Amino acid sequence: MIFDKPVEKWKIKKDCLRLILEASKSSYPREFAALLRAEKDIITELILLPGTISGDSHAIFQFHMLPIDFSIVGSVHSHPSPFANPSKADLSLFNKKGMVHIIVAYPFDERSWKAYNWKGEEIEIEVVD
Ligand SMILES: [Zn+2]
Repeated sequence: MIFDKPVEKWKIKKDCLRLILEASKSSYPREFAALLRAEKDIITELILLPGTISGDSHAIFQFHMLPIDFSIVGSVHSHPSPFANPSKADLSLFNKKGMVHIIVAYPFDERSWKAYNWKGEEIEIEVVD
């Protein structure tokens, strides 16, 4: 994780967001979880984790299974509820790893997701082509 270079405003590729929404939809009612890879300040790719447990309550990230990869900037997971607010467990995860975290809530459309920084404060992510 790169902590020495703060990003003013994160961006995400439209295709990448679409993939997140699709994966969240197809995982429903279970959670979908993945890591986010970025090129500079643009989130471009999802990384699916082997060993990620997708349960009914909360996706568990197995960060220790990851190779060291500095292009990974954060995480994304879905909530099977209409609420994209981070849970206590989410906040402690945000706090440990990554700079940007996306939560996608039911019904997993372009308006039902939110992004947070490592402190759990809501941030804006611009969708780019
Ligand atoms: Zn959550």
